[in-house]
Amino acid sequence: MSLSGFTAARASLRFPVLFRARLFLRAASSQHTVDAAFPTVQDSGPVPRRISFDDGEVFRLKSFWEIARGLLIFRLCSFPTLVNNCQKCMSFGRRILGRRLFEMVVRASVYRQFVAGESLLEIQECMDKLRALGIRPMLAVPIEEDIGAENSGEVWYTKNLETMLRCVELSAIGGSRSMMQLKITALMNADLCKKLTLCLENPSLAGELSIEKIVSVMDGEIASFPCLTVEESQHFHNSLRRLAQVAKYGKNQKVRILVDAEYTYLNPALTLVTMAMMTLCNQSEPWIWNTYQCYLKDSFNLLTNDLGLAQRLGICFGVKLVRGAYMDKERKLAKERSYPDPINPDWEATSCSYQRSLDTLLELVAIHGDRYNLIVASHNEESVKHALRRMEELGIHREAGTVCFGQLLGMCDQVSLTLGQAGYAIYKSIPYGSVNEVIPYLVRRAQENQSVLCGIRKERDLLQKELKRRLCRQA
Ligand SMILES: Cc1cc2nc3c(=O)[nH]c(=O)nc-3n(C[C@H](O)[C@H](O)[C@H](O)COP(=O)(O)OP(=O)(O)OC[C@H]3O[C@@H](n4cnc5c(N)ncnc54)[C@H](O)[C@@H]3O)c2cc1C
Repeated sequence: MSLSGFTAARASLRFPVLFRARLFLRAASSQHTVDAAFPTVQDSGPVPRRISFDDGEVFRLKSFWEIARGLLIFRLCSFPTLVNNCQKCMSFGRRILGRRLFEMVVRASVYRQFVAGESLLEIQECMDKLRALGIRPMLAVPIEEDIGAENSGEVWYTKNLETMLRCVELSAIGGSRSMMQLKITALMNADLCKKLTLCLENPSLAGELSIEKIVSVMDGEIASFPCLTVEESQHFHNSLRRLAQVAKYGKNQKVRILVDAEYTYLNPALTLVTMAMMTLCNQSEPWIWNTYQCYLKDSFNLLTNDLGLAQRLGICFGVKLVRGAYMDKERKLAKERSYPDPINPDWEATSCSYQRSLDTLLELVAIHGDRYNLIVASHNEESVKHALRRMEELGIHREAGTVCFGQLLGMCDQVSLTLGQAGYAIYKSIPYGSVNEVIPYLVRRAQENQSVLCGIRKERDLLQKELKRRLCRQA
């Protein structure tokens, strides 16, 4: 099943408002203290006292089965050949085991590790469990499109709109400063995004694609876009209204919407519509956030340009700061089409750029408070520690939520749990859907996050240590 087929099925997940009354959430206490003997890190300065990701004490919060499952999966993920060929392995497994048995095995293993669930109850349980550990859920509907994808046109996007609105409702339940992720290409055709990106490169079209004009269409006006065909223009109008509907509903339900960054041939169009959504909703609080991928050579310029634009527009600004997930494909395309590689030459350059953007944003939060929000969306312990240190130096309060942290469900729990227990605002990005619907998403994520998966040795070692501790205690 292709990802495009996912949405139709996704629309069957319904979270009626009535359900919400039955869903009582346990508020997570964020006051637990972590071992006072935690050492501080070796680099440029002390991280806040009592924060260490090194001893695995927080894994005592996990069940025996969670530890065993995590160990098994991380062991398998440490074989790059297996991760590279996981699509083939899945198909092979399905052929050998048959559909039902295969689904049972996947459900008990990879799916449970990385996915919230399928039914409302499962998703709710997962969210409750995270909250009880001091971690906030950030739902992500795993719908995504690339150029050339076949889907059933406007009907498909309308169904996706329904799914996104349900995701807003589900995210809104029970928690303050709720967040969810949004992929623009679930609501607007990727081919159109690519065309708009090309148009944006032409300075003479600046007026035609101005933020003000896009906002007016979001508000219901009809505008002409001579650079597009009649069909494209119609789809653009529909897409902008869908995006506005999700944005306004998010604001109404007090859910922050974090727009994902995708490929460089789409991103300028995605940023254009995201800035328009910000103009609609971010007058007094940042409800709509954009994502900046620091693996791009020009990421810092992109960020500062948008910060300048937000300032001119007088709006609040939220940022999801990531290193970036599409490196291999970006590089491959640049090589095939003989244009300069948009990605930094090495990991060190990406990390340098990450830190530069992080520092700039932290200073803005320190000066302007809640008008600027930031999520440090990284599994990298050094980046997290650097942010913690700077927060302390700049006097940014850990529980304020203006600066928060994000990791993917099932990964880097030594960081997420420690931050959650220490009272920081920490979110886990959690996809949901049926086994079959989510597999393509998991495969893509595994391949994109290879460097992270192959480097989770520390988490594996800490899990192993905790497993041994429990076995010895029983012996
Ligand atoms: C909550 C959340 C939301 C996310 N949303 C998005 C999103 O919207 N868009 C998106 O693209 N990604 C997104 N990601 C994925 C994120 O980009 C990856 O998790 C991230 O790239 C892994 O980096 P790291 O900081 O966790 O780990 P690290 O292991 O420190 O860094 C690995 C990353 O460094 C970069 N890198 C590695 N080798 C090189 C090299 N040779 N040259 C240059 N750079 C290199 C790559 O970006 C690689 O992924 C999200 C992640 C999280 C946790």
